[in-house]
Amino acid sequence: MPKMTVRDIDVKGKRVLVRVDFNVPLDEKTGAITDDNRIRAALPTIKYLIGHGAKVILISHLGRPKGKVVAGMSLGVAARRLSEVLRQPVAMALDCVGPGVENMVAAMKPGDVIMLENLRFHTEEETGDASFAQSLARLGDVLVNDAFGAAHRAHASVSVIADYLPAVAGFLMEKEVANLSKMLQSPARPFAALLGGAKISDKVSMLENIMGKVDYVMVGGGMAATFLKARAYEVGQSLLEEDMLATAGRLMKMAQKEKVNLMLPADVAVADEISREAQVKVFPADKIPKDKRIVDIGPQTIADFSLELKKCRTIFWNGPMGIFEIPRFARGTQELAKLLAKLEAMTVIGGGSTAEAVIEMGLAGKMAFVSTGGGASLEFLSGAKLPGVEALQDRK
Ligand code: ADP
Ligand code: MG
Repeated sequence: MPKMTVRDIDVKGKRVLVRVDFNVPLDEKTGAITDDNRIRAALPTIKYLIGHGAKVILISHLGRPKGKVVAGMSLGVAARRLSEVLRQPVAMALDCVGPGVENMVAAMKPGDVIMLENLRFHTEEETGDASFAQSLARLGDVLVNDAFGAAHRAHASVSVIADYLPAVAGFLMEKEVANLSKMLQSPARPFAALLGGAKISDKVSMLENIMGKVDYVMVGGGMAATFLKARAYEVGQSLLEEDMLATAGRLMKMAQKEKVNLMLPADVAVADEISREAQVKVFPADKIPKDKRIVDIGPQTIADFSLELKKCRTIFWNGPMGIFEIPRFARGTQELAKLLAKLEAMTVIGGGSTAEAVIEMGLAGKMAFVSTGGGASLEFLSGAKLPGVEALQDRK
């Protein structure tokens, strides 16, 4: 990567501010962490810094407290979980800036780890306020950014802070950028994008950017309905983005021009309602009943996509093939996850829900790369420059 990483700097005895993405999901009732993957993903960087005698000061956001102190969004839970997995104390600060925190940092010894309180308890984080960024910067000698998941935001702790102290990439940031760049710039061919999920609107710029680079675009999930409708098929009660019909048409033309094989479902699984008890029936994509809605891709589509995916050497998968949260609607997502896990291809999983499905099935380790990025990976693949990446020091 053309950016400096934590390996390129001397951290011994230094105060190292580490921007992590500990925005973990919490149980609504108990407030307990339901999935600690984001904490585990930052461990290589944190352990490296401890091992090299740095004073490790962790900063992160959690949830959307919108500039107010919200007790249920304290990073205390994350500090406790981190302390368990690191098997060493992680002191929790009451705030992320100010004299209390400065005193705490001043008392740190090499190898100590502290976690500062939720950055978004201050409105200045999201507005990218310069003096807030400066107050954060004062706490460290260097910034290590390992929060790829926040890299698309020009927030105080993500990019503005780099005006006041040198910033380098952590290992997770490095891995994310390296894998996604490689896929975009020098993919082994054939290269397929397998796309699903809820909406086209979230993914138009990414689709436009990859259209010139891929050999296949396979569309499932909710967005398939809008593509089918744009081809004048009946889609019944399916999730439909009326205002995206023209865009879907344009993308199909673009595919034709770029000689991309754009595959839509040949058949779909439909139901009367979105519920665990709903009866699932399969129909050809051109015979969807008016009173039904698409909930998954059908078996013929699974077979069609699989046949082509087996020929591919690079596969990017973003968006579940159906409403996979409901077991009866999860077949398309599960079958394709199992197929990708078996293939030798460079399989890259992007998107929060897609990663969740793959992790839930225990297949994450069988993929070449599972991005923790969510929105950030989509933006990266749309060709946009991410403020958090741009702010890192260039390698000399
Ligand atoms: P990711 O987080 O992987 O990028 P998205 O956020 O785009 O994926 O979409 C995930 C959501 O899409 C899931 O909650 C899933 O239930 C929904 N979804 C998939 N297929 C359909 C469908 N046919 N109709 C409605 N929603 C769908
Ligand atoms: Mg999502």
